[in-house]
Amino acid sequence: MSNPLIEVRELYKTYALDGVEVKALRGIDLTIQRGEFVALMGSSGSGKSTLMNILGCLDVPDKGSYKLQGQDVTHMNHDQLAGLRNRDIGFVFQNFNLLPRTSALENVVTPLIYAGVGHEERQRRATEALMRMGLGDRMTSQPNQLSGGQQQRVAIARALVTQPSLLLADEPTGNLDSVTSNEIMDVLDALNREGMTILLITHEQEVAEHAHRTLVVRDGRLVESVE
Ligand code: ADP
Ligand code: MG
Repeated sequence: MSNPLIEVRELYKTYALDGVEVKALRGIDLTIQRGEFVALMGSSGSGKSTLMNILGCLDVPDKGSYKLQGQDVTHMNHDQLAGLRNRDIGFVFQNFNLLPRTSALENVVTPLIYAGVGHEERQRRATEALMRMGLGDRMTSQPNQLSGGQQQRVAIARALVTQPSLLLADEPTGNLDSVTSNEIMDVLDALNREGMTILLITHEQEVAEHAHRTLVVRDGRLVESVE
């Protein structure tokens, strides 16, 4: 029996910008199985981030259905979406999105505070996540004291510390040089080998090649699927 992690049918999203309608998504169908590593490509403005934001429950579609782990997300209220986001989804962004003037450890602890995890377990799990990312000696460093690659590894630790079922990465190597970019992709490869489902947006073919399949978004539609 098929039990996909993500099942999207006929998804539409239109933004109103200065009175002009922007049709960001125009009928997306997408199924992602547990354990897959999928790359999302397409030119700037094609709708990649809009799709990822909806999959990550940061935004809601106007029309269509989205089931995550068999649960219909499109009918959930604000609090239910926030809970799902915190529990089941990890995010990694191009610009790392770490809290400034806050240690690596405190950055990674933050989602566990929202999840209601007690102080000692928070510290233990955050420490463990940072050690896995090779940052055992940088726990007390603040983002501006870390390199881009290190900041992105803190962000990955923060994304994983809640043990989500899905990792969403929007151009995670977009601000990194090629050596550091490879390091981050090695981290994502390892996570996927351990079973993490990953959806990755990238402009770079070399980065997309780490995924098992590549989807291309054009004008709000999936136009191509390269196996
Ligand atoms: P991509 O990530 O592929 O570059 P986006 O999903 O960010 O594309 O954007 C798709 C389209 O939707 C673009 O035309 C963009 O300008 C528009 N758009 C995205 N977010 C908003 C928003 N919050 N308000 C208005 N228009 C938006
Ligand atoms: Mg984008």
